[in-house]
Amino acid sequence: MEATLALRAGREKSTRRLHPWIFSGAVADVRGNPSPGDTVRVVSAQNDFVGFGAYSPESQLRVRMWSFDPDAVIDAEFVAGRVIAAAHRRAHLASISDSARLVFSEADGVPGVVADRYGNSVVLQLGTAAADRWSDVVADALMSLDGVDCVYERSDIDAREREGLTQRTGLLRGNQPPPESIINERGYRFSVGFTEGQKTGFYLDQRNARAAVAEVAQGRRVLNAFSYTGAFSVIAAAKGATEVTSLDSSASALVGARRNAELNQVEVGEQIEGDAFAELRKLRDRARSYDLILLDPPKLAPTEAQVERASRAYKDLNLLAAKLLAPGGILMTFSCSGGMSPDLFQKVVAGAALDARRNLRIIGRLDQPSDHPVPLNFPEAAYLKGLILEAD
Ligand code: SAH
Repeated sequence: MEATLALRAGREKSTRRLHPWIFSGAVADVRGNPSPGDTVRVVSAQNDFVGFGAYSPESQLRVRMWSFDPDAVIDAEFVAGRVIAAAHRRAHLASISDSARLVFSEADGVPGVVADRYGNSVVLQLGTAAADRWSDVVADALMSLDGVDCVYERSDIDAREREGLTQRTGLLRGNQPPPESIINERGYRFSVGFTEGQKTGFYLDQRNARAAVAEVAQGRRVLNAFSYTGAFSVIAAAKGATEVTSLDSSASALVGARRNAELNQVEVGEQIEGDAFAELRKLRDRARSYDLILLDPPKLAPTEAQVERASRAYKDLNLLAAKLLAPGGILMTFSCSGGMSPDLFQKVVAGAALDARRNLRIIGRLDQPSDHPVPLNFPEAAYLKGLILEAD
């Protein structure tokens, strides 16, 4: 029998709308002595059943709900079932890519667990005490999927500290993966490395944007700012961009971009290693101009607390990009900050265009692809947004 966690009066409201999070401030008391990651039975102040959740005593986010069904039994079969169902929901992606996010944590009903498939390998990130507690079950379930020959843990994320957990990496199941895996998305090949020490990831969540770049790159001079390992650059070059410049502050990302260019037999183009804020200014001062600009900075506002400072940074970047845009040019601009709403992002970009004295029209929007779902009862899962803008 599970321990019971009682909520304060009225604090069951969000869970009645099937929201999966319970913060420490909502908890009245815990009866029994649950260990980190154990399942607790959550009840209201009136002792009415609310649901079953995963207990994280060290975290402000004290409980992440597994189920609101009073008959649910949270055991190995339940957890494995959730993992396998999530993976099967991605089956339709197989014709496009051999790589996808198979499990997206709460958004797939498996709190704390993120699993990304890269070809035959699955990279597993465990972010909570419950994820750790069920790691064997999760790893076995992933290993049982068709074509998977290893499960490699990469739980070296800061989020674990909030749960009082240490970082961990290493092989969990199957064969040691090679230092370099080559994945295939729509016929493009990309190098990915995830073994100890080496980290050449791939932004699975920008799949829709890669397709959008492929559509418009033909005949354009392209600037890929925050290029990482050059996925957009490779596609633009392959689709007939007349010139491609990749800009990133990370030398190793630019090395990765050269490798990806080679894998796809395209010219790597100009590479600029440096801080985008400074380098975009220099390009503007040199009166450079581009017909397609990609602006995909890292998370500048991870939470709402950083939104104000981040807004200034986004505005600065988008202002510079707007100035670098040739007449008729296209700007694809992104924010992957969960703390910034799509509305606010659009306002910030509008302010930037105004200051740059450019008329920009939205001709498309980009967001998370289907393997990064956003449950209606869990809007927090939404983080990525992009605007495709066209200049006069
Ligand atoms: N568009 C890429 C992903 C970009 S991730 C893709 O689709 O693959 C963000 C990138 O921004 C990282 O490669 C990181 O090295 C780079 N970066 C972070 N801060 C930067 C800065 N101030 N200037 C330039 N690049 C930066």
